Amino acid sequence: MANMLGDLLLSVRRPARYIGGEFGAYAKPWNKARLRWCLTFPDLYEIGMSNLGMAILYSILNETDWILADRAFAPARDMERLLISADKSLYGLESGRPLHEFDIVGISIPHELTYTNILSILKLGKIPLLARERRTGDPLVIGGGCGAFNPEPIAELFDAILIGDGEEAVVEISEAVLAAKDSNKGRREVLEALSAIEGVYLPHEGKARKVKKRTVKSIDPSTALRHPIVPNISLVHDRIAVEIQRGCTRGCRFCQAGMVYRPTRQAKPNEVVKAICTAISSGGFEECALLSLSAGDYTPIDSVIYNIDNKFRDMWVHISIPSVRVEAMSEEVVRSLSRSLKGGFTLAPEAATPYLRKVINKGNTEEDLLASVERIFEAGWRRIKLYFMIGLPSEKDEDIEAIGVLSRHILEIGRRFCRPEVVVNVSTFVPKPHTPFQWEAMINMEEIVRRRRILQNVINKKGLILKMHDPGMSVIEGVFARGGRELLPVVLKAHEMGARFDGWDDEFDLEIWRRALEASDISIERHLNKRKEDEELPWDHLFVDLDRKFLLMERDKAMRGEETHDCLRMGCVGCGVCRPPSIKPICADLDQKDHVREAGTEKRGGKVFRYRFAFKKSGDARFIGHLDLINILKRAMRRAGLPLRFTEGFNKRPRISISDPIAVGEEGTGWIEIELTAEVDVGTAIEDINRSLPPIGLKIYRWHEKEGSDVSRRS
Ligand code: SF4
Repeated sequence: MANMLGDLLLSVRRPARYIGGEFGAYAKPWNKARLRWCLTFPDLYEIGMSNLGMAILYSILNETDWILADRAFAPARDMERLLISADKSLYGLESGRPLHEFDIVGISIPHELTYTNILSILKLGKIPLLARERRTGDPLVIGGGCGAFNPEPIAELFDAILIGDGEEAVVEISEAVLAAKDSNKGRREVLEALSAIEGVYLPHEGKARKVKKRTVKSIDPSTALRHPIVPNISLVHDRIAVEIQRGCTRGCRFCQAGMVYRPTRQAKPNEVVKAICTAISSGGFEECALLSLSAGDYTPIDSVIYNIDNKFRDMWVHISIPSVRVEAMSEEVVRSLSRSLKGGFTLAPEAATPYLRKVINKGNTEEDLLASVERIFEAGWRRIKLYFMIGLPSEKDEDIEAIGVLSRHILEIGRRFCRPEVVVNVSTFVPKPHTPFQWEAMINMEEIVRRRRILQNVINKKGLILKMHDPGMSVIEGVFARGGRELLPVVLKAHEMGARFDGWDDEFDLEIWRRALEASDISIERHLNKRKEDEELPWDHLFVDLDRKFLLMERDKAMRGEETHDCLRMGCVGCGVCRPPSIKPICADLDQKDHVREAGTEKRGGKVFRYRFAFKKSGDARFIGHLDLINILKRAMRRAGLPLRFTEGFNKRPRISISDPIAVGEEGTGWIEIELTAEVDVGTAIEDINRSLPPIGLKIYRWHEKEGSDVSRRS
């Protein structure tokens, strides 16, 4: 636990972001480690803690006994001011050590609009911003993540950047750095050693060496879940996440992740279910998300959802699948998910006309979509979220108007079942490196605004809600997505002028970026323009195994409105990434012979046992707000294995009530009342709950049992 600022933290919003001390955090002793990493994420704690890549690396590094891996996140503006005024450095949440004291600072690069936060992390961590300014004793700064496939605009901030999968490379990097550290080698020699590791790009070499992306043969869904960290505050995605599939072979032509993470590698269903069981039991989570670029394409999705649903029926664990292709929605998936009817159901048709869907190779039909929509409303959802893009290559005004027609049709289907709400989310197409559309033009600000107006005119019915991505943010993303090193001065200038958290609507300031671009004499239009086929591209030296001829062929097929089939199901289409026998698509079908469906039971009615206990909030727990405190206590009781009784209705919650709030910043005592379905031994229960609480100064110290009563008639 690492509150380096004491009560000064009470001057910032949500101070619990900065105290660590979560249940499940490793918090290894500093002096016993031979190599120390600080993994950082350039956004707030509430966003970064949901990042699966960071969680995977955190587990792998900490499972190695000689490595310590700590965490840090971009501080909000108020915390940045506090760190500066208190002359403190940004620190690791577990060790409390300033970032500049670590051997390696790992920085996730999620997307272009986090670049200024990367500068904040380095600056507040008191690490020289540019790699060439760092000297012996400064940490190595290593980047990676899905935004690293064209890192050129910010490449000079990094000593090394990992391109591709990190599971194996992160250990090899650690071994190389430790060997150099033990033999007192200088920075140059350490970097030389890193250059021998597949996937490691050294920006100081420029384009001198072609770097091939790192690909792991298969994925292990349990990696991030063997030791899950349970946050002390609610996250934007407050759930455990299990990766069921990496890569996608559908071949949507706009999708960078779908291209660069090929081939598809599906996790074994038995391992997925086992990993989720471990994480839910040891973490006490209420929701689990099955993550992949298209969860519906995961071959054994039905049986995985069925088994999780049955195993945790008594604990009311919600299952969510954040990304679904419409044609992949089986009736059984919809039925199983409907048991946890949480929030809206998300579908991503991306384009509203058959021709444009062929251009982007989305591979779905309007019939697929409408049939799925009917199943979703029929199963009980009343809110559907649709994702579309505007500005796609060859798009005409009729394609935009069709978004309105299709959305109204979906609304009408919903009205047969309920009072529906259809949320139409529209973003602007941004051409991304390593995709068939990497040479295409992006529409400019004026054109985005004009096409948005068409949308506003056609999405005008009660029940339809239009949400559009900020055009300025899209344009800046478009400039950086295909930019080169000429853009670093722009990022530095924008940061100096106050740009932070540029991916947040309420923080993004287009004027700052306009002025920063002008100061470096950078033309927005030129960066959004079409690229020539023979033009050298800033990322040409980073090879993600995709054959350039394949990308060009796909682009030409797009212009002719021709589709390309899914290679996992219908045979190889020659994209070039596979290197059999080691690197090839993995379909989890083969594993299904071992995967049996297990029937679950649902206990209802019976006796109810009411208990009342006293708790104490002291130490760093005083930084926790009332609602977060309730969540901490609920999850601790789940982890302690208490037979909780749940409320009725769709969104079931443990029956727990708590005494009046204790204000943030104050210590104090309070009461909690809970209802259980069975009698428990009071002494053992207190011990189990206290063992399940995070080490921040929370304690159960007294317990009163109340009479049990029969509620079978009421349940
Ligand atoms: S090489 Fe063939 S099988 Fe492998 S991902 Fe590409 S298209 Fe699919």
